[in-house]
Formats: sequence, C-alpha cells, structure tokens
Amino acid sequence: MEFEAFENLYQHICQNHVERLYDLYNSEINTYNTKSNSKKIIIKFDPREINNASACSDASDIIIIYKGLLKNLHKATQLFIEREYQLLTDDEKATISFFVFSISTHFIICHEFAHLYCGHCDLLNKINNKNVCLRLDFDSDIGITPLDHQALEMNADAVAACRTTDYVLFEPYHHRSIIESIHNKNMAVDLLLKAMNITFFVLRSFMPPISDIYFETRSHHPALLRQIMNNQTLIKYLQTEYGKSISEKNIDEHFASDEKTLCELFYVPLNAEHYKNNLSQVILEHEQKLRTHWNSLYNKLAPFSRSELPPIF
Ligand SMILES: [Zn+2]
Repeated sequence: MEFEAFENLYQHICQNHVERLYDLYNSEINTYNTKSNSKKIIIKFDPREINNASACSDASDIIIIYKGLLKNLHKATQLFIEREYQLLTDDEKATISFFVFSISTHFIICHEFAHLYCGHCDLLNKINNKNVCLRLDFDSDIGITPLDHQALEMNADAVAACRTTDYVLFEPYHHRSIIESIHNKNMAVDLLLKAMNITFFVLRSFMPPISDIYFETRSHHPALLRQIMNNQTLIKYLQTEYGKSISEKNIDEHFASDEKTLCELFYVPLNAEHYKNNLSQVILEHEQKLRTHWNSLYNKLAPFSRSELPPIF
C-alpha cells in the first residue's frame, strides 16, 4: 500500500509517542522527573522529502519529523516484513508492519526527546544565547566541537534505545491484537532488533558511512558505529532491567541477516560486514574516544538536564 494511505495513522502514532514520553518524564511518581518542566511540547510534521528529524527548544519544545523519513521507514518496513514473513496471513503481516514502524518512530522521536530532556538544546542555547536546532549538518558556529556533538548524539541514542525497549516490552501500552500476535508469541524482542536494523539502514542513507575519512568532523558518529553501540545498550538494558539474555553473537547474526535482506530489497551492495571486519580498529578507537569524552561533557550538561542522565552502556 502507498505511503499516503498510512500518513494520518503514522502521524497519530508519532503524536502518541511524544505524549507518552512527555507524561513519563513529567509524572510526579516516576524516577525520570528530577526537575519540573512546564514547557509545552509540540511535534511538527514537515512535508519535505527529507530523511531527517530534529529538535529545538524555544518557548515550547519542538520535535520536527520530515515526511521523507516516515516515507522511507514505511517503504523499508513494508518490503522487509513482506519478504521475511511470507508464510503469514495479510492480517498478521499488517500487524507486524504496524508494530515495527511504531518501534522505529519511537526510537527516532525518543532520540529527539532526549536532546530536549537531557539538556542538549538548553546547553547549546546558553552557549549561543539564541535557540539552536539540533540537526544533521554540523554547524561550526554553535560553540561546541564535532566530538561534543557526537557525544550528545551518543547520549540521545542511549536514552532512545532504553526507552524504546520499555515501550516495546510494556504490554499495557499495546492493543490486544499486538499482545496476542506478538507478545504472546515471544516475538517482541526479535521485532525490536529488526526495527532498529531497519531504522539504521534508512538513516544510513543520509549519514556519513564508516568509510568516510572525515567522520571525525561530522555532527553524528558513523551510523554503523551508532548501530553497534545501540546493540550493546540493548544487550545490557535487556539483561539488567528485564532479565533477558541475548548474546553479542546472537545480535550480530540478527544484524547480518537483516542487513542482507535490506540490501537485496534496495539493490545496494552488502557492505556493513565488510566495514565491520576491516575497519573495526578505527571504529573501536573512535568509540573509546567518544566514551571518554562523554565523561567530561557530562558535567557541562548536568545543570541543563531535566532528567537523570542515564549511563552510556
Ligand atoms: Zn540527534
């Protein structure tokens, strides 16, 4: 089915994610509510065909999702589920597609939400004495280094990976049909991993690849490294919060298999494994640099954060 047939439903899903996160982080009884925040939050749907999302904090908090990103996620999800679950009925495939799309958009929205609630936007606004939008291109005038920016992205990813796991596994959030066809069949964690792989496959089309020799000057660390680090977050968070063991080998197999399917569907060369094997030293060194850098950035960020700054696993 064409994207346009789903557009209203998708916007509704995104709106619900924002409201759920807002309630979670502002509720008096929850541990994330460390500072009161009365700012209104707005989600805007930009009609441009841009594969991106952004966050800025002004009189209100604003999250912007571009149509291009929703459209690309829709296409990748539909094709992927159609290929992977050929034996299921159309109704079952539709339920799974809906759930996977919902997980992907939750991750993206929560990543933007973390830019707001972990104080990233407020820190930059303070440094610049104006409202700065956190976006794709690195802007050298915003008073922080690319490494600072990448560490903020790493922080936003870590928050998003944890909250998205909560979203997927907390059954009361979901409709009965999702519980019956997904949770009761123990498919939830599997679909969480698939949704993350689809999301980063889509995101990778506008982010510098790991082979980009200038990756240290970009606003985001390479998407493949983000994916690897997010997988580590998922392994640790699933274990500590939910007692669910998933090995690194298992998560790597998921990644390799989903990547192969997506590359075939979109006629792109299968290169993720190649980069992972051949440039792992470059990746590992940069990962270490980011983790070390996070420790110094943490203290700068803490006064602006409206919630607990979570550990970077
Ligand atoms: Zn970001």
